[in-house]
Amino acid sequence: MSDSFLQGRSALVSGSTSGIGLAVACRLAAAGVRVAVHGLGTTEQIAAAVAAVNAAGGGEARHFGGDLRDPAAIEQLMAEVAAWSAGGPDILVNNAGIQHTAALEDMPVERWDAILAINLSSAFHSMRHALPAMAERGYGRVINIASVHGLVASKQKAPYVASKFGLVGMSKVAALEYAAQGNRASGGITVNCICPGWVETPLIEPQIEARRDGGSRDDGVRALLAEKQPSLRMSLPDEIAELAVFLCRREAHNLTGAAIPVDGGWTAQ
Ligand code: NAD
Repeated sequence: MSDSFLQGRSALVSGSTSGIGLAVACRLAAAGVRVAVHGLGTTEQIAAAVAAVNAAGGGEARHFGGDLRDPAAIEQLMAEVAAWSAGGPDILVNNAGIQHTAALEDMPVERWDAILAINLSSAFHSMRHALPAMAERGYGRVINIASVHGLVASKQKAPYVASKFGLVGMSKVAALEYAAQGNRASGGITVNCICPGWVETPLIEPQIEARRDGGSRDDGVRALLAEKQPSLRMSLPDEIAELAVFLCRREAHNLTGAAIPVDGGWTAQ
């Protein structure tokens, strides 16, 4: 459903060639937002993602590349998106992320570096580029896709948990620094984290696989949910995307500095 407040605004959604990011990009496009699709993938995957976002919205989506492990590539990405969006995106969704599970002492150093770079440092770089232009306009939304692992820990996830706790903390700092910009009419600047529990995306397939124990994929899913997520239901990417769109609306001008769990009760325990 198109939305007159969001119509014609621009968004950069990192990691929107797959999973949660793709769903967020589609929902924003459906609300009338011009979306900069970003992420890795084959030519076919990228074309399919852009086609899906265009089918959901006004047909103005474009793909931007950039490996988020590389600050110079992020600098270039933000410059290209600024040129495309007349100064910088109104909405920045830092969604791209990776995972690797292993005990701390066995964690490859290269995985630590990559997870911290993609899940945490890339959001620092994109925010420092995007926030000043948002402040000038009096409207801006930063939505950082953190995780329940930004609120509580699990074993075998040292870099992931470190990156997501860091993302939650950094988002609160940015929320405070920009809280007084804009006004109710313009929508203000807000910075929030969404903290999902298990969501049906390719990211968690290795963890499902590790719990199949000779059974089916559904057995693996059941085992995963039983460990931590009391609802015993996965979230779907579209459900996370609905919340992201709400955070972009004018009515959410005072919802800032929050880390919102969507976790079936995981962090209520
Ligand atoms: P996904 O694997 O489906 O998508 C990840 C996206 O990030 C892809 O578009 C990929 O191209 C991009 N990406 C990965 N490495 C990159 C790099 N070096 N440079 C540029 N882009 C890169 O995963 P998802 O489950 O949709 O995850 C999205 C976010 O949600 C992540 O931050 C993840 O930590 C978070 N999250 C996921 C779950 C879950 O259960 N799936 C739960 C909590 C949080």
